[in-house]
Amino acid sequence: METASLKTKIIAKAKEVGIDKIGFTDATPFDYLKESLETQQAAGHSTGFEHPIMADRLYPDRIFDQPKSIISIALAYPSSVKDSIAQDKNNRRGALARASWGIDYHHILRDRMAQLIDFIKAETQDATFKPMVDTGELIDVVTAQRAGLGFIGRNGLLITSEFGSYVYLGEIITNIEFEPDQPGEFGCGDCYRCVNACPPQALLGDGRLNGRRCLSYQTQTKGYMPLEFRRKISHTIYGCDICQLVCPYNKGIDSHIHPEMEVSAAEVQPELKPLLTISNKDFKNQFGHMACAWRGKKPLQRNAIIALANYRDQTAIPKLLEVLEMDTRPMIRGTAAWAISQIERYYQPSIIECVAKHLAKETDPETIDEMSAALASLKAKRLPKDQL
Ligand code: SF4
Ligand code: SF4
Repeated sequence: METASLKTKIIAKAKEVGIDKIGFTDATPFDYLKESLETQQAAGHSTGFEHPIMADRLYPDRIFDQPKSIISIALAYPSSVKDSIAQDKNNRRGALARASWGIDYHHILRDRMAQLIDFIKAETQDATFKPMVDTGELIDVVTAQRAGLGFIGRNGLLITSEFGSYVYLGEIITNIEFEPDQPGEFGCGDCYRCVNACPPQALLGDGRLNGRRCLSYQTQTKGYMPLEFRRKISHTIYGCDICQLVCPYNKGIDSHIHPEMEVSAAEVQPELKPLLTISNKDFKNQFGHMACAWRGKKPLQRNAIIALANYRDQTAIPKLLEVLEMDTRPMIRGTAAWAISQIERYYQPSIIECVAKHLAKETDPETIDEMSAALASLKAKRLPKDQL
């Protein structure tokens, strides 16, 4: 089949299977990114979540036999929930970033791409394909920009004209040669809103980011969260949406196209206290279908403890003491001790005694440091007014 008419058919089919935007680029190397990636790596800006072999990210022919084109796809996701939930001071809630709302997007994109590939296979002979989402070798935003889906903003995200940056991206390498689309043109102009709004100043201003400073990364690590980021995550226990929320291209954008991405406020603003002692089974039931569960429950529990500290939630202290007493993971115990020291306003001998007792049992050096600092902070507090 002549590939121009195949391309037209694929575009029509994409719409039919629920792909919101599609573009085509050739499979020539992305070697013009090499220097920038090397600089980023040398500067320690990589997170380790990227594909580990740089050459595989730049040269499609290293990961696919005779690649000719890359098909890039985007699915738009909602930026708001349709219901709301009242704030309850006795039952504080955290927040999940929008990219984690609903069924894990990796599954949704894989399904859409599989449908598209089946269609193309039925239309052609000897065609080969390699679909990728997020954890694949190629860099999603770069491929999408080259395939004309949009441009890469100063926030490092792909910005489309129809759906702003609220899109999930995937791509398919193939041995079919298609006419490439025009790459997206940079559209930030003089705007630096995202760069200025980023709480840890992770954005470098040219579309690149220091991934290790990004709160989205920080909420996904498994160890202690460095102190400087704890206040900055506020009540968001997974991801960060700030550089999307401030972007003028996202103003008024709220795409409710895919039923799998629809959620209730209660789902994406989970109660924090119950999360601290949630069983594996309940965690799987409540969060297992969402992207935020990919690192297991530990990072979310740590972040929930931090969010309670950021609320200065006095009602959380009994639960935090329970965690200190019962949790088998040193990092969770240490973070709980820190949170208690943040929330407690007064010199409370019973709490001091409790933290000191647990500190005496700790053997993990980082946890000893964390608990020692918490203990010192608790001891330095003033007496309650009625005891002055
Ligand atoms: S996701 Fe948040 S922390 Fe990361 S670059 Fe954007 S605003 Fe900054
Ligand atoms: S906020 Fe401004 S600078 Fe940042 S991505 Fe959007 S348009 Fe570009």
